Amino acid sequence: MTHNSGGTPQLDPTVPFLGEATIRGILRYEDLIPAMERALADFSSGKALQPVRNILPVEQHHVFFGVMPAVYGDVMGAKLVTLAPDNAGIGLPTHQGIIVLFRAETGQPIAVMDGRLITEMRTAAVTAAATKLLAKVNANVLTILGSGVQARAHFEALRLVRHFTTIRVWSRNPAHAQALAAEIGGTAASAEDAVRDADVVVTVTHASEPILHGRWLKPGVLVNAVGAVGLANRELDDDAMRGSVVVDSREAARVESGDIALAGSMVYAELGEILAAKKPKPLAGTTVFKSLGLAVEDLAAAKLVLDSI
Ligand code: NDP
Repeated sequence: MTHNSGGTPQLDPTVPFLGEATIRGILRYEDLIPAMERALADFSSGKALQPVRNILPVEQHHVFFGVMPAVYGDVMGAKLVTLAPDNAGIGLPTHQGIIVLFRAETGQPIAVMDGRLITEMRTAAVTAAATKLLAKVNANVLTILGSGVQARAHFEALRLVRHFTTIRVWSRNPAHAQALAAEIGGTAASAEDAVRDADVVVTVTHASEPILHGRWLKPGVLVNAVGAVGLANRELDDDAMRGSVVVDSREAARVESGDIALAGSMVYAELGEILAAKKPKPLAGTTVFKSLGLAVEDLAAAKLVLDSI
């Protein structure tokens, strides 16, 4: 902390702020996917300190404020993240955030950086890590339910881990599905038609009621369930949750996942347990990877940025 001439405390000016444009110029999925694999394996091996995040509902504005701290490797820090679903109607991102990093050994502040793009990319990179590990090797039909920021990011990341020859998109607003499909060389369809013979399905919506029904799924499919945070919210119905359920964090899943709680599902493993070879992959059948998003993922991504400048 320094003081200006008026004696007002100011943040040490040597602590840099890295904006979204800087981060965009640095982060690549090719680096981020292995970084997420390491972070998840370390998390599930007890090598990170991370409580379940706090999410404060700001009811009068229909906004959620998340505080996500962790200590991982030589850094500690937190992402402060906001979710404002109504922003979609006013041209603002629905997820925004800031990440603050400190040196773990001394507690010195190292950097403050934008958290919006890191949230976007690390989430898709985690799903890519899950898909690389859990989807059939010859998976070639990808279905995306949703057409927002995560839908686009997932297309970019997942194409690096499997060779998808058919891509289908469904979204609540058919025009949004059409626009995304045109952008990524896919086809817009009804949710059922989009899912019917898919090898990999991604759900990336703000839905609070099921948009994916298990009766549509073919055996052996991998479902990456990425939306629906909160015990009352779900994107998948009970049937869709009948397969092996893999999560990013068992602890977070217990208190944050409506998909799991409402279906009464058992968690088979954390993704990091399988990555660290502490658990075998689930046997053939439907697999659901339930992603909630972890602070260690944000810290690992932020560290990747820092190490590259
Ligand atoms: P966007 O706001 O960019 O997109 C939201 C999408 O949700 C749109 O496709 C919209 O469809 C759809 N949608 C909104 N309301 C409903 C509804 N009631 N029923 C069905 N679809 C709906 O959000 P993001 O892409 O950034 O995020 C998508 C989801 O992923 C969210 O639930 C978010 O919280 C979650 N997420 C999860 C993370 C994790 O780590 N697991 C990290 C970041 C996000 P349309 O435009 O057609 O109306």
